[in-house]
Amino acid sequence: MAHELTGRLVDAAVTTIRNHADELTGLDQAIGDGDHGINMKRGFDAIAEAAEIRTLPLGDALQKAGMTLVMKVGGASGPLFGSLLMAMGKAVVGDPTQGEQVQAMLTEGIAAVKKRGKSDVGEKTMLDVLVPVSEALAGKLSRHAPAAETMAGLRAAADAALERTKPMKATKGRASFLGDRSIGHLDPGARSSQLLIHAVCDAVA
Ligand code: ADP
Ligand code: MG
Ligand code: MG
Repeated sequence: MAHELTGRLVDAAVTTIRNHADELTGLDQAIGDGDHGINMKRGFDAIAEAAEIRTLPLGDALQKAGMTLVMKVGGASGPLFGSLLMAMGKAVVGDPTQGEQVQAMLTEGIAAVKKRGKSDVGEKTMLDVLVPVSEALAGKLSRHAPAAETMAGLRAAADAALERTKPMKATKGRASFLGDRSIGHLDPGARSSQLLIHAVCDAVA
């Protein structure tokens, strides 16, 4: 039997990555090796094909999906998004639709990416979307914002954060090889992160 929340999230994430794979590859052609969309699609296709993931409670499903990305994706993004999902899954101890629980999941996921990537905010990576979204969520929770306002705030935070990767100079990953020539382009992994945030917000709304 399908686990309803997990199934909706898997569908939303897989659909957005498939629909934007060419665009993600295009972004990576500008400042990387032009495979980000291919890598993400390979990973999320594998998640879609691992049918048992949809049957699991969210914490277990995230861990399994994360392991799938680590195993199936050769590029940097596989281990990084894989670590994100695995750590988020391990952090589930309560109701995964509850704000404080989501906050804890994001905090752990971000810590895992930083550790795996030896990276931090300001280096023109996926972290430059994930961290501002996590901060936006913390701000909404502390002000007890209604769910709809919280979702809108997270989407807006992701969009603004993605745009802010454009003027950044990459200091991690392949884009860092370009030095100053990485300036003026969106970071591909930041775009994937923003797409996934939107997908999650849509799926739980
Ligand atoms: P590869 O660079 O191995 O070809 P991808 O193209 O699939 O892998 O993924 C590139 C993305 O991974 C970048 O746009 C960036 O967001 C992210 N990334 C790369 N290195 C790091 C890192 N050390 N920390 C965090 N994110 C990183
Ligand atoms: Mg690449
Ligand atoms: Mg590559």
